[in-house]
Amino acid sequence: MQPPQQPVLRDIVLIGGGHTHVGVLKRFAMKPEPGVRLTLICRDTHTPYSGMLPGYVAGHYGYDEVHIDLRRLAEYAGARFFADEAVGIDHDARKVLCRSRPPVPYDWLSINIGSTPRVDALGGAAGHAVPVKPIHQFNDRWQTLLRRIEAHPGRTRVAVVGGGAGGVELLLAMQVRLGSELAARGRDPEDLTFALFTRGETLLPTHNARVRAHFEATLRRRGIEVHAGTEVVAVEAGRLQAADGTWHAADEIVWVTSAGGAGWLKETRLALDDDGFIQVDDTLRSTSDPRIFAAGDIASQVNHPREKAGVFAVRQGRPLADNLRAAVTGRPLSSYRPQARWLALISTGDRHAVASRGRLCLAGDWVWRWKDRIDRRFMARFNDLPPWKRPRAGSRRPAG
Ligand SMILES: Cc1cc2nc3c(=O)[nH]c(=O)nc-3n(C[C@H](O)[C@H](O)[C@H](O)COP(=O)(O)OP(=O)(O)OC[C@H]3O[C@@H](n4cnc5c(N)ncnc54)[C@H](O)[C@@H]3O)c2cc1C
Repeated sequence: MQPPQQPVLRDIVLIGGGHTHVGVLKRFAMKPEPGVRLTLICRDTHTPYSGMLPGYVAGHYGYDEVHIDLRRLAEYAGARFFADEAVGIDHDARKVLCRSRPPVPYDWLSINIGSTPRVDALGGAAGHAVPVKPIHQFNDRWQTLLRRIEAHPGRTRVAVVGGGAGGVELLLAMQVRLGSELAARGRDPEDLTFALFTRGETLLPTHNARVRAHFEATLRRRGIEVHAGTEVVAVEAGRLQAADGTWHAADEIVWVTSAGGAGWLKETRLALDDDGFIQVDDTLRSTSDPRIFAAGDIASQVNHPREKAGVFAVRQGRPLADNLRAAVTGRPLSSYRPQARWLALISTGDRHAVASRGRLCLAGDWVWRWKDRIDRRFMARFNDLPPWKRPRAGSRRPAG
């Protein structure tokens, strides 16, 4: 399904198939820009949708339901797809350096590569903990962890490090799934114990008091130990160490703490914030290189700092697509201001969820069904691609 052949006049290169770039591809698919060639460089051919990841872990969704097929989406948008990892930028020659293939030239570049875990900085964590980021590798890690726990005789102690929404949601999903996997094999789900470690004094620190209380009560009811105000400083096989020197037994350790920017960005000329994220202005353009845009977790909008959450990455799809289009056609760029409050729908692993927005807290099975509908609708935009019909020059593609 290629678009009509046009001479390539300008190249837009997208690094990373994150939540923003899938939106950009879809928009260019619906309205191609004549003479512009899009190229997506991504180390994965399937990118997970973070909102459904806990549901996948809990066993509510299959692999295809929570992943976007990037190769197919790129083809649909008439874009080239290179399955490779970007490792550097030659700003002067305007080329992306890749791990395996020759450098890829660009006129305009956009980066949406998510965040990278900081496990390497911590003694032992890289070898003994399962990081949830980069999120694209999580499936393999989760499958391995599942097999290890199934094969582990007797009691297994699972520790999750990170008390944000991602950590709490993942822990609750794992408890449901692992319990049912053991029960299906005739083993006692009580063989599993779970503990949550968080540096902060409270769980879910960016959510309101009622949401926090709901999750504290849920964790208590489900027998999960919570170690708040406990920073984990070292990890070894079978145990982890807190900052006060105490060791805690843990057969499996899952790492869901906040992450930083990819290390290779430090070798570029891009202005980065203290956590290594690319600083962008209100047009999502790098503050140091006007040819480069960034969005999603990897971008730090200097005038509007926000929590790292997929919802922001998704919302940036439209402004980024519009500004790439404007840049490439020489029109002025538009400013984008991310919302100050956003709706988070946080699941508890048992088809129950909590809606959190500002001071609002709503909980129930119906909230999970609501979340399920929203998430499925989002995925359908990228996986149920309408048949593509050759458009007349300048017209929009008819379907979609
Ligand atoms: C368990 C869990 C649950 C979460 N649930 C929610 C939720 O319900 N709602 C919410 O809003 N947020 C949620 N989050 C946060 C969310 O995951 C992130 O904010 C979101 O994934 C960021 O999206 P992104 O587009 O920036 O990057 P990502 O989704 O991380 O995508 C990055 C892409 O770039 C590719 N890539 C990376 N490096 C390179 C490179 N060098 N070269 C080429 N390609 C590269 C990767 O393969 C990947 O395809 C959750 C996080 C976790 C851990």
